[in-house]
Amino acid sequence: MQALPKEYNFLEVERRWQQKWIDMGIFQYDWNDSKRVPFSIDTPPPYPSGELHMGNVLNWTYFDVVARYKRMRGFNVLFPQGWDCHGLGIEIQVEKTNNIRKRDLPSDQFRKMCIGLVEKYIVMMKEGILKLGCSIDWTLEYRTMDPDYWRRTQLSFILLHKKGYMYRGTHPVNWCPHDETAIADAEVDYVKKEGTLHYIRFQISGTQDYLVIATSRPEFIPACVAIEINPNDERYCKYIGKTVTVPVVNRNVKVIADECVDPAFGTGVVMICTYGDKEDVKTVIKHKLPVIMLLTENGRINENGGKYQGLTTHQTRTAIVQDLSNAGLLDKTEKISQEIGVCDRCKAQVEILERKQWFMETRKLTAAVEETANGIVWYPDFMRNRLVDWAKSLDWDWVISRQRIFATPIPVWYCKKCGELILSDEDWVPIDPKLECPRIDGCPKCGGKEFIAESDVFDTWMDSSITCAVHAGWPDREDWRRLFPASMHPSGTDIIRTWAYYLMVRHLALFDETPFRSVLINGMVLGQDGRKMSKSLKNYVAAPEALGKYGADAIRQWAASGGATGSDIPYRVQDVEYGRRFLVKLWNASAFASKLLADYQPSKAAPAELELLDKWMLSETENVTGRVTDAYEKCQFNIAIDEIRNFTWHMFCDSYLEAVKDRLYKPEQSGRAQKIAAQYVLYNVLYRILQLLAPVIPHLTEEICRFLYSDAKGCSSLHVSSWPRFRETRVDEKAEKEGNIVIALIGEVRREKAEKRMPLNAPIATLTVHAGDASAAEAINKALIDISGSCKVQNLKVLASKGEGRPLATFSDIRFNAEYQPAATS
Ligand SMILES: [Zn+2]
Ligand SMILES: [Zn+2]
Repeated sequence: MQALPKEYNFLEVERRWQQKWIDMGIFQYDWNDSKRVPFSIDTPPPYPSGELHMGNVLNWTYFDVVARYKRMRGFNVLFPQGWDCHGLGIEIQVEKTNNIRKRDLPSDQFRKMCIGLVEKYIVMMKEGILKLGCSIDWTLEYRTMDPDYWRRTQLSFILLHKKGYMYRGTHPVNWCPHDETAIADAEVDYVKKEGTLHYIRFQISGTQDYLVIATSRPEFIPACVAIEINPNDERYCKYIGKTVTVPVVNRNVKVIADECVDPAFGTGVVMICTYGDKEDVKTVIKHKLPVIMLLTENGRINENGGKYQGLTTHQTRTAIVQDLSNAGLLDKTEKISQEIGVCDRCKAQVEILERKQWFMETRKLTAAVEETANGIVWYPDFMRNRLVDWAKSLDWDWVISRQRIFATPIPVWYCKKCGELILSDEDWVPIDPKLECPRIDGCPKCGGKEFIAESDVFDTWMDSSITCAVHAGWPDREDWRRLFPASMHPSGTDIIRTWAYYLMVRHLALFDETPFRSVLINGMVLGQDGRKMSKSLKNYVAAPEALGKYGADAIRQWAASGGATGSDIPYRVQDVEYGRRFLVKLWNASAFASKLLADYQPSKAAPAELELLDKWMLSETENVTGRVTDAYEKCQFNIAIDEIRNFTWHMFCDSYLEAVKDRLYKPEQSGRAQKIAAQYVLYNVLYRILQLLAPVIPHLTEEICRFLYSDAKGCSSLHVSSWPRFRETRVDEKAEKEGNIVIALIGEVRREKAEKRMPLNAPIATLTVHAGDASAAEAINKALIDISGSCKVQNLKVLASKGEGRPLATFSDIRFNAEYQPAATS
């Protein structure tokens, strides 16, 4: 046992342990261990996007707390880390920083630029995760942009294609005209915007009569394919089946009826265009209307727009409104507030385009998703509805192809002669069809020798939605099912609709099995002002800076204690500073203990003679072990850390240590056995505290353990020590009750001294305690040594009767009178 140094250099200690843990290899998953039960964490591979932000800090703290806790519980923990490299954001950033468009240079060159940026970002994020002290098994690190990972994405596609889940078809899809690619529903954000409703006359063919329609997107008039009214709307039902002339383009379309039309919106007459919005798509399918595609892939008007061809949608709107106004067809305009779908990466308004795309047939899995979501554990429980509601809300299958460059290639070709689809063999992957031909002699259908490579690539979620299987070792390890389904999938409230959903559908389709047994949800990190943290709002905190200033152990306490699991958590500097003060308190208490324990010989068995407060402390330690364990089991990290911090600070440091100091300092007065009893309690309770804190505060606890316990406890690291088991037999309710009285009495005497502005060691000549009843008197009598020692009482009189005096705050029947020595030696 060594004495602790006075100062704790947290940055030095944290860095030293982070390296040492890696060197020791204690966080590596043991693939050959057949005894311990595996616990696998489906760590999300993040998009490398620059420095770690506080949202990442919150998430990775959660994952790491679970990993460290489960390891101490005896599980063989798999805590991998990958990087999801193919984000659209990387392409956008490469374009921005180099002021280029991806189509302007060879795709090889553009790809290289993307890889360079991703590698730079991975280094930055990894540095942050290391600094946070995460117990990741870095031997399992992977990057989805490496061909070895593509192989898995491509193989999963081939298998799903064979199972009939993948199809190619021309369907309307969400389209980002800025990034010129299809995007999934999950990548569309909705923002409130002010728009203008234009009231426009459509003339009934062959008459002077007209209908007025109200639209916020008059630029779509050239793509108008029908006019729709509610059949129960008496104003308009006489027009059903008639034709009207579409202004500007002078084309005739039919008036159709549908009960879905809301007579109260606008004029109650609706223009159906292909496609102004998702409602148009539904109507076109339902009424088998023709489709007039109006937009090009970069969001301009195509040849179907006549004289407006080549203009942007915005320019077209201005021009059409002007033309309508000149023709006397624009009745009026009014401002409205509307919700607009925008690309979640570049914020461009999302359009709906038809283009041949690859889809995964996800909608047929909706019932299975619901059933699976209901069959697994969610922390917190109500979050399961987010997944179920999202799955049920989807109108379209998942569009998995993208018109991008930096992504996993879709491993298919088409016969040049007959168009036959050639799917890659399972053992050809990884393969880039743009660089290699299919390994066949000719087209199986027509014998053709020439093939056209698929130029589309996969949505990045195709890479990352197979992680549960990949982490388990699929497809290379024969025993991958040992680690599948993953024990825990962590997800954020913002990515349930993507990460959790896509994982679910991919694995259900591939393996007919849930990908994970439980889901741990984290909320978002808000700024100090309570708004979502963002650089533009000036409430942004850079994680590397915060980690450098306060150290990981303090920041992790903020993350764990900031709020209930799943709720949004503001970044409060006060929380971090409280965490920092707690570390100092624990360090000082441990340094103090290390001196008092200098001559202590650890023994397994408790000494025969324990004082009341020793029994009280041991019993309360048992109780807090139970409560903290329960909280960790339920992923209630805030409850776990608050319980153990309060226990450490108030019960252990302020109450117990203060009460027994005298026994440890002056055994010649209180007795040698009493000293050893206090040493036993001190030694064991402090170790218990370190263990209970270890998942949240890994560095400082490990450092204290190195000085005080590494010899005796016989394990290389606190983090591989076994978790203390709550034992009911060790709970001593009587000692707790009696101890509480004694602690309250000592506390009240000290308070009185403080109020009288006397030093705490001011001697009391006589302390008369009116216990109020016999049982309280008995309790106090059991702790005479500690009361006298800690309150510096020369003569302690305990009476069972009620009497006058200062009452205890929590036991008001107990009162006392202290006669201080006239010349207090202070
Ligand atoms: Zn975009
Ligand atoms: Zn062919």
